[in-house]
Amino acid sequence: MEEFRGNSVSSGVALGNIAVFAKEESEPEKKSVEDTDKELKRLNDALNLAKKELENLYNDAIDKVGEENALIFDIHKMMLEDLDYIENIEGLIKDEGVNAEYAVFATGELFSKTFADMDDEYMKARSVDVIDVSKRVIRKLTGKAEVSLESSEPVIILAEDLTPGETINLDKSKVLAFVTKKGSSNSHTAILARSMNIPALVNVDFNLEDLSKFNGKFAIADAAAGKFYVEPVDEIIENARKLEAELDSARAELNTLKGLENVTKDGRKINIFANIGSEKDVDAVIENDAGGIGLFRSEFLYLGRDQAPGEAEQFESYKEAIVRMAGKKVIIRTLDIGADKKVDYLGLVEEENPALGYRAIRICLNNEGLFKTQLRALYRASAFGNAGIMFPMITSVDEVRRIKEIAGKVREELILEGKEVGSPELGIMIETPASALISDELAKEVDFFSIGTNDLTQYTLAVDRQNEKLGGFYKPHHKAILSLIKMTCDNAHKNGIWVGICGELAGDLELTETFVDMGIDELSVSPSKVLSLRKAVRNI
Ligand code: PEP
Ligand code: MG
Repeated sequence: MEEFRGNSVSSGVALGNIAVFAKEESEPEKKSVEDTDKELKRLNDALNLAKKELENLYNDAIDKVGEENALIFDIHKMMLEDLDYIENIEGLIKDEGVNAEYAVFATGELFSKTFADMDDEYMKARSVDVIDVSKRVIRKLTGKAEVSLESSEPVIILAEDLTPGETINLDKSKVLAFVTKKGSSNSHTAILARSMNIPALVNVDFNLEDLSKFNGKFAIADAAAGKFYVEPVDEIIENARKLEAELDSARAELNTLKGLENVTKDGRKINIFANIGSEKDVDAVIENDAGGIGLFRSEFLYLGRDQAPGEAEQFESYKEAIVRMAGKKVIIRTLDIGADKKVDYLGLVEEENPALGYRAIRICLNNEGLFKTQLRALYRASAFGNAGIMFPMITSVDEVRRIKEIAGKVREELILEGKEVGSPELGIMIETPASALISDELAKEVDFFSIGTNDLTQYTLAVDRQNEKLGGFYKPHHKAILSLIKMTCDNAHKNGIWVGICGELAGDLELTETFVDMGIDELSVSPSKVLSLRKAVRNI
């Protein structure tokens, strides 16, 4: 048994096999090799392993999805037996003395292009397949396993780090836990793990060089104790199973609170809403009996892809959330990209201080086309229920006026086009110290405030929320943060608008009474925390 320590970023315990997450490197490094015979042998071994894997996948898939759908794995296997493909790879190794990874990659690219240029639609479609099989062979060469979401078994994902884009693209039903070497509790990956209700450990003290040796081994990720065990002894397995059973019964007890009000013993009421990253999370919102959606992080729709989603795609996604919430409020935040949420297609370059840089509303105000596309989708979707639109990273009244002007124009244009639009509430996030300090003025411009305590903490305390070394300095309970929250709350009410908290602090049960005393109108938390928060409110 090997035992490691880590920081827990979400609760729970998971038992299962490890899959080491392989970053999809766009291009393997090109290296010169002296011993080409050895390289050819590595290639041969990798091809055999990949073919064996495809054979297993084919047999597995026949039972689950039928022969017709399983055929793709057989086609992939045949591609790996294609003599032209193999000869091209071997030629590059022998004649140019390059490493096998690079030779496979270059051959995959060449064949993919040839297929793409063909007239026959069937052959054209094979251009993606040849890239896919080449990646499989490269994974066999590097020893990294694909997070095999094709396999039927859910896995514990072990990685150096995971970006929000990578996390969002994983099939939740196949992930038992996340365990990473890097990462901080306040990163969006951690937030995603919490909202998916998946146990997660970051900053785990394993050696990166050893990572691949863990592949396929049985492990336990105990997010309650901050421990990760590989090939645990029987006693640890038994304890983990006990903990699992305890957590299940605690959950069952919380389930009895469904349908009850969020009301204190002396009759004070508060809205408890949920945070989501996609319309698919609405199931969890309904399941946990949240009163609405307080934060739909729309930027997750933009991650892990090659281009921004268009108006139609966004409209469908927002509409689905709004319709499924059936009259309950759904607050959708406009694109909050940048900092740790990166995409390639917006021309965002590396910055020295990304959190203080080009992100969120700054990108939207500089890129009106992108902003308007999202606003069009939002206004159209808002016709289907009770919606609100919220703008992130606000620092000035001028920004808000500019936003309202653009939003107003978009709405008018849609009406002129004869499109149906709603009248959503317009609100802003209070997540910079500047916005909290001028909240009296800002409250006169908008319908509501939602306090983003994750960024408010980062900016007030000058502590990068992504930096794992600063974990001990990231103190959201700091007096300065609580004063800014109180000030924001008072200024909202003085001006007759409502105020909520949608940052992670909203679910911090040590502060629930403080927030209720301040008169906060709404707390929005990950769906899995709704019922424990209800319990805390009812105990005040
Ligand atoms: C926040 O900053 O508290 C917030 C809710 O937004 P995000 O975590 O997405 O930056
Ligand atoms: Mg924020």
